[in-house]
Amino acid sequence: MSAALPFRRTKIIFTLGPATESEEMLEKMLRAGADVVRLNMAHASHEWTRDVIRRIRTVSARVGREVAIMMDIKGPEIRTGDLAAPIELKAGEIFDFTVKPGAGRDGGEEIRSVDVNYQNLVNDISVGSIVLVDNGLLRLEVLTKSDAHIRCRVLIAGQLSSRRHINLPGVKVNLPAFTEKDRADTLVGLEEGIDFVALSFVREAKDVAELRLFLAERKSTARIIAKIEDQSAITNLDEIVTACDGLMVARGDLGIECPFEDLPVIQRRAVRACIAQGRPVIVATHMLESMIVQPVPTRAEITDVANAVYEFADCVMLSGETTVGKYPVECVQMLDKIARRIEAEDDADRRTPAVFTAERMKVLHSAVVLANEIPHSKILTFTRHGFMANGLAALRPVRAPILTITPSVGLQRQLRLLRAVEPYLMPLATDPDATIENAIQLLRRAGRIAPGDKLIVATDILSLDRLVDSVQLRTVT
Ligand code: PEP
Repeated sequence: MSAALPFRRTKIIFTLGPATESEEMLEKMLRAGADVVRLNMAHASHEWTRDVIRRIRTVSARVGREVAIMMDIKGPEIRTGDLAAPIELKAGEIFDFTVKPGAGRDGGEEIRSVDVNYQNLVNDISVGSIVLVDNGLLRLEVLTKSDAHIRCRVLIAGQLSSRRHINLPGVKVNLPAFTEKDRADTLVGLEEGIDFVALSFVREAKDVAELRLFLAERKSTARIIAKIEDQSAITNLDEIVTACDGLMVARGDLGIECPFEDLPVIQRRAVRACIAQGRPVIVATHMLESMIVQPVPTRAEITDVANAVYEFADCVMLSGETTVGKYPVECVQMLDKIARRIEAEDDADRRTPAVFTAERMKVLHSAVVLANEIPHSKILTFTRHGFMANGLAALRPVRAPILTITPSVGLQRQLRLLRAVEPYLMPLATDPDATIENAIQLLRRAGRIAPGDKLIVATDILSLDRLVDSVQLRTVT
Protein backbone atom coordinates (compact mmCIF):
# COMPACT_ATOMS: atom_id res chain seq x y z
CA MET A 1 0.00 0.00 0.00
CA SER A 2 1.41 3.45 -0.89
CA ALA A 3 1.99 6.15 1.68
CA ALA A 4 -1.30 8.08 1.61
CA LEU A 5 -1.03 11.32 -0.37
CA PRO A 6 -3.52 14.10 0.34
CA PHE A 7 -6.60 13.62 -1.85
CA ARG A 8 -6.49 15.51 -5.14
CA ARG A 9 -9.19 15.23 -7.80
CA THR A 10 -7.13 16.57 -10.72
CA LYS A 11 -4.59 14.05 -12.01
CA ILE A 12 -0.99 14.77 -12.97
CA ILE A 13 0.71 13.42 -16.09
CA PHE A 14 4.41 13.95 -16.63
CA THR A 15 6.57 13.24 -19.66
CA LEU A 16 9.62 11.08 -19.08
CA GLY A 17 12.99 12.28 -20.30
CA PRO A 18 16.64 12.63 -19.32
CA ALA A 19 15.69 14.67 -16.23
CA THR A 20 13.37 11.98 -14.82
CA GLU A 21 14.25 8.58 -16.30
CA SER A 22 16.53 7.30 -13.52
CA GLU A 23 15.05 4.98 -10.88
CA GLU A 24 15.84 7.55 -8.25
CA MET A 25 14.01 10.39 -10.02
CA LEU A 26 11.08 8.15 -11.00
CA GLU A 27 10.62 7.24 -7.37
CA LYS A 28 10.60 10.92 -6.37
CA MET A 29 8.06 11.74 -9.11
CA LEU A 30 5.72 8.94 -8.02
CA ARG A 31 6.04 9.84 -4.36
CA ALA A 32 5.28 13.48 -5.24
CA GLY A 33 1.94 12.28 -6.64
CA ALA A 34 2.31 11.75 -10.39
CA ASP A 35 -0.51 9.58 -11.75
CA VAL A 36 0.48 8.88 -15.35
CA VAL A 37 3.86 8.71 -17.11
CA ARG A 38 3.93 9.82 -20.75
CA LEU A 39 6.50 8.51 -23.22
CA ASN A 40 6.93 10.85 -26.17
CA MET A 41 7.79 8.56 -29.08
CA ALA A 42 8.99 11.48 -31.24
CA HIS A 43 12.24 11.20 -29.29
CA ALA A 44 12.38 7.54 -28.22
CA SER A 45 14.19 4.43 -29.44
CA HIS A 46 12.58 1.04 -28.93
CA GLU A 47 15.35 -0.07 -26.64
CA TRP A 48 14.90 2.98 -24.41
CA THR A 49 11.12 2.49 -24.45
CA ARG A 50 11.28 -1.13 -23.26
CA ASP A 51 13.83 -0.23 -20.68
CA VAL A 52 11.91 2.66 -19.13
CA ILE A 53 8.55 0.85 -19.15
CA ARG A 54 10.11 -1.97 -17.12
CA ARG A 55 11.76 0.57 -14.83
CA ILE A 56 8.45 2.39 -14.23
CA ARG A 57 6.77 -0.91 -13.30
CA THR A 58 9.62 -1.81 -10.91
CA VAL A 59 9.53 1.59 -9.22
CA SER A 60 5.69 1.53 -9.04
CA ALA A 61 5.85 -1.80 -7.23
CA ARG A 62 8.49 -0.52 -4.85
CA VAL A 63 6.59 2.69 -4.07
CA GLY A 64 3.27 0.81 -3.89
CA ARG A 65 1.62 3.10 -6.41
CA GLU A 66 0.64 1.62 -9.79
CA VAL A 67 0.82 4.51 -12.21
CA ALA A 68 -0.38 4.35 -15.81
CA ILE A 69 1.91 4.54 -18.83
CA MET A 70 0.81 6.56 -21.85
CA MET A 71 2.67 6.05 -25.10
CA ASP A 72 2.34 9.22 -27.19
CA ILE A 73 2.88 8.25 -30.81
CA LYS A 74 4.04 10.88 -33.27
CA GLY A 75 1.31 10.64 -35.91
CA PRO A 76 1.57 12.43 -39.24
CA GLU A 77 4.32 14.95 -38.98
CA ILE A 78 6.14 17.03 -41.57
CA ARG A 79 9.74 17.86 -40.82
CA THR A 80 12.61 19.59 -42.55
CA GLY A 81 15.58 17.43 -43.51
CA ASP A 82 19.19 17.61 -42.42
CA LEU A 83 21.27 20.74 -42.92
CA ALA A 84 25.07 20.83 -42.80
CA ALA A 85 24.76 23.86 -40.48
CA PRO A 86 21.85 26.01 -39.27
CA ILE A 87 20.83 28.80 -41.67
CA GLU A 88 19.80 32.35 -40.70
CA LEU A 89 16.71 33.23 -42.74
CA LYS A 90 16.21 36.95 -43.36
CA ALA A 91 12.85 38.72 -43.63
CA GLY A 92 11.86 39.10 -47.32
CA GLU A 93 14.27 36.37 -48.46
CA ILE A 94 13.03 33.84 -51.02
CA PHE A 95 13.40 30.27 -49.75
CA ASP A 96 12.49 26.83 -51.11
CA PHE A 97 11.14 23.71 -49.44
CA THR A 98 12.06 20.85 -51.76
CA VAL A 99 10.40 17.48 -52.06
CA LYS A 100 12.96 16.28 -54.60
CA PRO A 101 16.46 16.62 -53.19
CA GLY A 102 18.60 19.20 -54.97
CA ALA A 103 15.62 20.89 -56.67
CA GLY A 104 16.08 24.21 -54.90
CA ARG A 105 18.25 25.86 -57.55
CA ASP A 106 16.65 27.05 -60.80
CA GLY A 107 18.87 28.21 -63.63
CA GLY A 108 21.76 29.01 -61.34
CA GLU A 109 19.69 31.25 -59.04
CA GLU A 110 21.10 31.34 -55.55
CA ILE A 111 17.98 30.39 -53.64
CA ARG A 112 18.58 28.60 -50.39
CA SER A 113 16.52 25.52 -49.62
CA VAL A 114 15.83 22.62 -47.31
CA ASP A 115 14.31 19.20 -48.04
CA VAL A 116 11.05 18.10 -46.41
CA ASN A 117 10.06 14.51 -45.58
CA TYR A 118 6.66 14.64 -47.34
CA GLN A 119 6.53 14.28 -51.14
CA ASN A 120 2.88 15.29 -51.48
CA LEU A 121 3.38 18.65 -49.82
CA VAL A 122 3.24 20.44 -53.18
CA ASN A 123 -0.23 19.00 -53.88
CA ASP A 124 -1.74 19.75 -50.45
CA ILE A 125 -0.54 23.33 -50.19
CA SER A 126 -1.79 26.39 -52.12
CA VAL A 127 -0.21 29.65 -53.17
CA GLY A 128 -0.79 32.08 -50.29
CA SER A 129 -0.66 29.32 -47.61
CA ILE A 130 1.44 29.98 -44.53
CA VAL A 131 4.29 27.65 -43.58
CA LEU A 132 5.38 27.70 -39.93
CA VAL A 133 8.63 26.08 -38.88
CA ASP A 134 9.99 25.16 -35.45
CA ASN A 135 6.91 25.82 -33.30
CA GLY A 136 5.99 28.86 -35.37
CA LEU A 137 9.29 30.65 -34.77
CA LEU A 138 9.78 31.01 -38.53
CA ARG A 139 6.90 32.12 -40.76
CA LEU A 140 6.86 31.94 -44.56
CA GLU A 141 4.25 32.53 -47.28
CA VAL A 142 3.95 30.33 -50.37
CA LEU A 143 4.58 32.32 -53.59
CA THR A 144 4.72 29.57 -56.22
CA LYS A 145 4.95 25.80 -56.38
CA SER A 146 6.23 23.17 -58.81
CA ASP A 147 6.51 19.37 -58.75
CA ALA A 148 9.82 19.65 -57.00
CA HIS A 149 9.44 22.48 -54.50
CA ILE A 150 7.38 25.22 -52.93
CA ARG A 151 8.89 28.69 -53.16
CA CYS A 152 8.23 31.00 -50.22
CA ARG A 153 8.92 34.47 -48.93
CA VAL A 154 10.19 34.70 -45.35
CA LEU A 155 7.76 36.80 -43.28
CA ILE A 156 9.29 36.25 -39.84
CA ALA A 157 13.05 35.73 -39.84
CA GLY A 158 15.02 33.36 -37.65
CA GLN A 159 17.37 30.42 -37.55
CA LEU A 160 16.51 27.18 -39.32
CA SER A 161 18.22 24.00 -38.16
CA SER A 162 17.91 20.31 -39.07
CA ARG A 163 14.73 18.23 -38.62
CA ARG A 164 12.40 21.03 -37.51
CA HIS A 165 8.65 20.50 -37.24
CA ILE A 166 6.52 22.16 -39.96
CA ASN A 167 2.93 23.33 -39.34
CA LEU A 168 0.58 24.30 -42.15
CA PRO A 169 -2.38 26.08 -40.55
CA GLY A 170 -5.69 25.29 -42.25
CA VAL A 171 -4.14 22.92 -44.82
CA LYS A 172 -5.66 19.43 -45.00
CA VAL A 173 -2.57 17.25 -45.14
CA ASN A 174 -3.10 13.85 -46.75
CA LEU A 175 -0.67 11.95 -44.55
CA PRO A 176 -1.97 8.76 -42.92
CA ALA A 177 -3.21 9.24 -39.33
CA PHE A 178 -1.43 6.13 -38.06
CA THR A 179 1.97 5.90 -39.75
CA GLU A 180 4.39 2.98 -40.15
CA LYS A 181 6.51 4.39 -37.33
CA ASP A 182 3.40 4.65 -35.12
CA ARG A 183 2.60 0.97 -35.79
CA ALA A 184 6.10 -0.16 -34.91
CA ASP A 185 6.13 1.99 -31.76
CA THR A 186 2.68 0.83 -30.65
CA LEU A 187 3.66 -2.83 -31.09
CA VAL A 188 6.56 -2.32 -28.69
CA GLY A 189 4.22 -0.61 -26.25
CA LEU A 190 1.69 -3.44 -26.45
CA GLU A 191 4.39 -6.04 -25.85
CA GLU A 192 5.40 -4.13 -22.73
CA GLY A 193 1.81 -3.65 -21.54
CA ILE A 194 1.22 0.11 -21.85
CA ASP A 195 -2.11 1.44 -20.56
CA PHE A 196 -2.84 4.28 -23.01
CA VAL A 197 -1.90 5.15 -26.57
CA ALA A 198 -2.10 8.88 -27.35
CA LEU A 199 -2.64 9.42 -31.08
CA SER A 200 -1.21 12.70 -32.38
CA PHE A 201 -2.94 15.01 -34.88
CA VAL A 202 -6.31 13.25 -34.83
CA ARG A 203 -8.35 15.02 -37.50
CA GLU A 204 -11.56 12.96 -37.56
CA ALA A 205 -13.22 9.99 -35.82
CA LYS A 206 -11.95 7.66 -38.57
CA ASP A 207 -8.36 8.22 -37.36
CA VAL A 208 -9.27 6.87 -33.93
CA ALA A 209 -11.16 3.94 -35.50
CA GLU A 210 -8.01 2.89 -37.36
CA LEU A 211 -5.99 2.67 -34.15
CA ARG A 212 -8.89 0.98 -32.36
CA LEU A 213 -8.95 -1.77 -34.99
CA PHE A 214 -5.18 -2.20 -34.69
CA LEU A 215 -5.50 -2.60 -30.91
CA ALA A 216 -8.52 -4.92 -31.15
CA GLU A 217 -6.74 -7.19 -33.65
CA ARG A 218 -3.96 -7.58 -31.09
CA LYS A 219 -6.41 -8.06 -28.20
CA SER A 220 -5.01 -5.05 -26.40
CA THR A 221 -6.90 -3.38 -23.57
CA ALA A 222 -4.94 -0.13 -24.01
CA ARG A 223 -7.20 2.91 -24.22
CA ILE A 224 -6.99 5.61 -26.85
CA ILE A 225 -6.31 9.26 -26.08
CA ALA A 226 -7.04 11.48 -29.10
CA LYS A 227 -4.74 14.50 -29.27
CA ILE A 228 -6.46 17.47 -30.86
CA GLU A 229 -3.86 19.70 -32.45
CA ASP A 230 -5.30 21.44 -35.52
CA GLN A 231 -8.35 23.07 -37.06
CA SER A 232 -9.83 19.86 -38.53
CA ALA A 233 -9.94 18.38 -35.02
CA ILE A 234 -11.88 21.40 -33.79
CA THR A 235 -14.35 21.13 -36.66
CA ASN A 236 -14.88 17.43 -35.88
CA LEU A 237 -14.58 17.71 -32.10
CA ASP A 238 -17.81 15.99 -31.07
CA GLU A 239 -17.30 12.93 -33.29
CA ILE A 240 -13.69 12.61 -32.08
CA VAL A 241 -14.81 12.76 -28.43
CA THR A 242 -17.36 10.03 -29.16
CA ALA A 243 -14.76 7.82 -30.84
CA CYS A 244 -11.95 8.09 -28.27
CA ASP A 245 -11.50 6.96 -24.66
CA GLY A 246 -10.02 10.29 -23.63
CA LEU A 247 -8.93 13.57 -25.20
CA MET A 248 -5.76 15.64 -24.94
CA VAL A 249 -5.93 19.36 -25.65
CA ALA A 250 -2.44 19.55 -27.15
CA ARG A 251 -1.97 23.27 -26.81
CA GLY A 252 1.56 23.31 -28.26
CA ASP A 253 0.49 22.54 -31.79
CA LEU A 254 -3.03 23.95 -31.40
CA GLY A 255 -1.51 27.32 -30.57
CA ILE A 256 0.36 27.24 -33.88
CA GLU A 257 -2.35 25.74 -36.08
CA CYS A 258 -5.14 28.02 -34.79
CA PRO A 259 -5.26 31.75 -34.08
CA PHE A 260 -3.69 31.98 -30.61
CA GLU A 261 -6.60 34.00 -29.23
CA ASP A 262 -8.88 31.03 -30.04
CA LEU A 263 -6.90 28.70 -27.80
CA PRO A 264 -8.72 29.41 -24.50
CA VAL A 265 -12.05 29.09 -26.30
CA ILE A 266 -11.04 25.76 -27.85
CA GLN A 267 -9.80 24.44 -24.50
CA ARG A 268 -13.06 25.33 -22.77
CA ARG A 269 -15.17 23.81 -25.57
CA ALA A 270 -13.09 20.62 -25.59
CA VAL A 271 -13.27 20.15 -21.83
CA ARG A 272 -17.04 20.67 -21.87
CA ALA A 273 -17.52 18.33 -24.83
CA CYS A 274 -15.64 15.61 -22.95
CA ILE A 275 -17.57 16.05 -19.72
CA ALA A 276 -20.85 15.96 -21.65
CA GLN A 277 -19.89 12.63 -23.22
CA GLY A 278 -18.20 11.16 -20.14
CA ARG A 279 -14.68 11.10 -21.56
CA PRO A 280 -11.61 12.07 -19.51
CA VAL A 281 -9.81 15.17 -20.74
CA ILE A 282 -6.19 16.29 -20.42
CA VAL A 283 -4.97 19.89 -20.64
CA ALA A 284 -1.41 19.78 -21.93
CA THR A 285 1.67 21.87 -22.66
CA HIS A 286 3.37 24.94 -21.21
CA MET A 287 1.55 24.64 -17.89
CA LEU A 288 4.73 25.41 -15.91
CA GLU A 289 7.07 26.20 -18.80
CA SER A 290 9.15 28.73 -16.85
CA MET A 291 9.97 26.00 -14.31
CA ILE A 292 12.20 24.35 -16.92
CA VAL A 293 14.79 26.80 -15.66
CA GLN A 294 13.30 28.50 -12.57
CA PRO A 295 12.21 26.95 -9.26
CA VAL A 296 8.92 28.89 -9.12
CA PRO A 297 6.27 29.40 -11.82
CA THR A 298 5.02 32.73 -13.13
CA ARG A 299 1.74 34.12 -11.80
CA ALA A 300 0.24 33.56 -15.24
CA GLU A 301 1.19 29.85 -15.15
CA ILE A 302 -0.36 29.42 -11.70
CA THR A 303 -3.55 30.94 -13.05
CA ASP A 304 -3.45 28.76 -16.16
CA VAL A 305 -3.24 25.59 -14.04
CA ALA A 306 -6.02 26.92 -11.82
CA ASN A 307 -8.15 27.59 -14.88
CA ALA A 308 -7.83 23.95 -16.03
CA VAL A 309 -8.94 22.81 -12.56
CA TYR A 310 -11.83 25.29 -12.52
CA GLU A 311 -12.87 23.96 -15.93
CA PHE A 312 -13.01 20.42 -14.43
CA ALA A 313 -10.27 18.87 -16.55
CA ASP A 314 -9.37 15.35 -15.42
CA CYS A 315 -5.64 15.84 -15.88
CA VAL A 316 -2.96 18.46 -16.30
CA MET A 317 0.23 17.51 -18.12
CA LEU A 318 3.92 18.38 -17.95
CA SER A 319 6.24 18.07 -20.98
CA GLY A 320 9.57 19.89 -21.20
CA GLU A 321 9.28 20.70 -17.49
CA THR A 322 9.96 17.05 -16.67
CA THR A 323 11.93 15.84 -19.71
CA VAL A 324 14.75 18.36 -19.59
CA GLY A 325 13.76 20.79 -16.82
CA LYS A 326 15.83 21.52 -13.74
CA TYR A 327 12.92 21.17 -11.28
CA PRO A 328 10.75 18.17 -12.30
CA VAL A 329 9.77 17.05 -8.78
CA GLU A 330 8.98 20.63 -7.80
CA CYS A 331 6.72 20.86 -10.87
CA VAL A 332 4.62 17.91 -9.69
CA GLN A 333 4.51 19.38 -6.19
CA MET A 334 3.46 22.74 -7.64
CA LEU A 335 0.63 21.22 -9.71
CA ASP A 336 -0.48 19.24 -6.68
CA LYS A 337 -0.55 22.34 -4.50
CA ILE A 338 -2.38 24.55 -6.99
CA ALA A 339 -4.92 21.85 -7.87
CA ARG A 340 -5.77 21.07 -4.25
CA ARG A 341 -6.14 24.77 -3.41
CA ILE A 342 -8.53 25.40 -6.31
CA GLU A 343 -10.48 22.20 -5.65
CA ALA A 344 -11.14 23.51 -2.13
CA GLU A 345 -13.08 26.43 -3.64
CA ASP A 346 -16.80 25.79 -3.79
CA ASP A 347 -17.54 27.16 -7.21
CA ALA A 348 -21.15 27.05 -8.36
CA ASP A 349 -20.06 25.88 -11.81
CA ARG A 350 -18.70 22.71 -10.31
CA ARG A 351 -22.21 21.44 -9.70
CA THR A 352 -23.17 21.34 -13.37
CA PRO A 353 -23.94 17.68 -14.07
CA ALA A 354 -23.11 16.12 -17.39
CA VAL A 355 -25.96 15.11 -19.62
CA PHE A 356 -26.58 11.37 -19.60
CA THR A 357 -29.51 9.34 -20.78
CA ALA A 358 -28.57 5.71 -20.03
CA GLU A 359 -30.59 4.18 -17.16
CA ARG A 360 -27.45 3.13 -15.28
CA MET A 361 -26.12 6.68 -15.39
CA LYS A 362 -29.22 7.87 -13.58
CA VAL A 363 -28.39 5.52 -10.69
CA LEU A 364 -24.86 6.93 -10.62
CA HIS A 365 -26.26 10.44 -10.79
CA SER A 366 -28.30 9.77 -7.66
CA ALA A 367 -25.09 8.63 -5.90
CA VAL A 368 -23.39 11.89 -6.85
CA VAL A 369 -26.41 13.96 -5.73
CA LEU A 370 -26.24 12.19 -2.33
CA ALA A 371 -22.47 12.72 -2.10
CA ASN A 372 -22.89 16.42 -2.85
CA GLU A 373 -25.58 16.75 -0.18
CA ILE A 374 -23.88 14.85 2.66
CA PRO A 375 -20.86 16.66 4.11
CA HIS A 376 -17.57 14.70 4.22
CA SER A 377 -19.09 11.68 2.47
CA LYS A 378 -17.07 9.40 0.18
CA ILE A 379 -18.24 7.38 -2.78
CA LEU A 380 -17.33 3.69 -2.93
CA THR A 381 -17.74 1.79 -6.16
CA PHE A 382 -16.64 -1.45 -7.81
CA THR A 383 -15.65 -1.87 -11.39
CA ARG A 384 -14.48 -4.68 -13.69
CA HIS A 385 -14.40 -2.71 -16.93
CA GLY A 386 -14.32 0.88 -15.69
CA PHE A 387 -17.93 1.83 -16.44
CA MET A 388 -18.94 2.72 -12.86
CA ALA A 389 -15.80 4.77 -12.14
CA ASN A 390 -15.95 6.50 -15.50
CA GLY A 391 -19.62 7.41 -15.08
CA LEU A 392 -19.16 8.70 -11.55
CA ALA A 393 -16.08 10.74 -12.51
CA ALA A 394 -17.92 12.24 -15.47
CA LEU A 395 -20.63 13.47 -13.11
CA ARG A 396 -17.95 15.50 -11.27
CA PRO A 397 -18.87 15.07 -7.57
CA VAL A 398 -18.14 18.36 -5.80
CA ARG A 399 -16.05 17.08 -2.88
CA ALA A 400 -16.33 13.33 -2.43
CA PRO A 401 -13.50 11.12 -3.65
CA ILE A 402 -14.54 8.14 -5.75
CA LEU A 403 -12.90 5.19 -3.97
CA THR A 404 -12.87 2.57 -6.67
CA ILE A 405 -12.22 -1.13 -6.19
CA THR A 406 -11.12 -3.18 -9.17
CA PRO A 407 -9.77 -6.72 -9.45
CA SER A 408 -7.51 -5.84 -12.39
CA VAL A 409 -4.14 -4.11 -12.06
CA GLY A 410 -4.36 -2.91 -15.68
CA LEU A 411 -7.66 -1.20 -14.98
CA GLN A 412 -6.32 0.17 -11.71
CA ARG A 413 -3.61 1.95 -13.70
CA GLN A 414 -6.03 3.21 -16.34
CA LEU A 415 -8.35 4.60 -13.66
CA ARG A 416 -5.53 6.95 -12.62
CA LEU A 417 -6.56 9.21 -15.48
CA LEU A 418 -10.06 9.89 -14.15
CA ARG A 419 -10.85 12.93 -12.07
CA ALA A 420 -11.46 12.23 -8.36
CA VAL A 421 -11.03 8.46 -8.81
CA GLU A 422 -8.73 6.70 -6.31
CA PRO A 423 -8.25 3.15 -7.60
CA TYR A 424 -7.59 0.19 -5.26
CA LEU A 425 -6.77 -3.38 -6.24
CA MET A 426 -8.84 -6.17 -4.63
CA PRO A 427 -10.46 -9.39 -5.86
CA LEU A 428 -14.26 -9.20 -5.98
CA ALA A 429 -16.16 -11.90 -4.04
CA THR A 430 -19.20 -13.53 -5.67
CA ASP A 431 -21.41 -12.20 -2.88
CA PRO A 432 -21.76 -8.39 -3.34
CA ASP A 433 -22.22 -7.85 0.39
CA ALA A 434 -18.98 -9.65 1.19
CA THR A 435 -17.24 -7.54 -1.47
CA ILE A 436 -18.44 -4.33 0.16
CA GLU A 437 -17.28 -5.55 3.59
CA ASN A 438 -13.83 -6.52 2.24
CA ALA A 439 -13.50 -3.13 0.57
CA ILE A 440 -14.36 -1.32 3.79
CA GLN A 441 -11.66 -3.31 5.61
CA LEU A 442 -9.11 -2.54 2.87
CA LEU A 443 -9.89 1.19 2.93
CA ARG A 444 -9.72 1.26 6.73
CA ARG A 445 -6.29 -0.38 6.61
CA ALA A 446 -5.21 2.19 3.99
CA GLY A 447 -6.31 5.00 6.30
CA ARG A 448 -8.82 6.30 3.73
CA ILE A 449 -11.94 5.76 5.87
CA ALA A 450 -12.60 5.70 9.60
CA PRO A 451 -15.51 4.79 11.87
CA GLY A 452 -18.32 7.31 11.53
CA ASP A 453 -17.55 8.16 7.85
CA LYS A 454 -20.53 8.24 5.51
CA LEU A 455 -20.05 6.02 2.49
CA ILE A 456 -22.23 6.21 -0.59
CA VAL A 457 -21.89 2.80 -2.16
CA ALA A 458 -22.72 2.60 -5.86
CA THR A 459 -22.72 -1.04 -6.89
CA ASP A 460 -24.83 -3.95 -8.05
CA ILE A 461 -26.50 -6.11 -5.39
CA LEU A 462 -28.33 -9.42 -5.45
CA SER A 463 -32.09 -9.04 -5.26
CA LEU A 464 -34.16 -12.23 -5.66
CA ASP A 465 -31.26 -13.86 -7.55
CA ARG A 466 -30.97 -10.90 -9.89
CA LEU A 467 -28.19 -8.29 -9.92
CA VAL A 468 -29.61 -4.77 -9.73
CA ASP A 469 -27.83 -1.42 -9.62
CA SER A 470 -28.07 0.20 -6.24
CA VAL A 471 -27.01 3.20 -4.23
CA GLN A 472 -26.62 2.58 -0.50
CA LEU A 473 -25.79 4.94 2.31
CA ARG A 474 -23.60 3.28 4.94
CA THR A 475 -21.88 4.56 8.05
CA VAL A 476 -18.48 2.97 8.65
CA THR A 477 -18.49 1.15 11.98
C1 PEP B 1 1.27 19.52 -27.97
O1 PEP B 1 1.43 19.86 -29.15
O2 PEP B 1 0.82 20.28 -27.09
C2 PEP B 1 1.58 18.12 -27.59
C3 PEP B 1 1.30 17.66 -26.40
O3 PEP B 1 2.11 17.31 -28.55
P1 PEP B 1 3.67 17.02 -28.82
O4 PEP B 1 4.39 17.30 -27.53
O5 PEP B 1 3.69 15.60 -29.20
O6 PEP B 1 4.02 17.96 -29.93
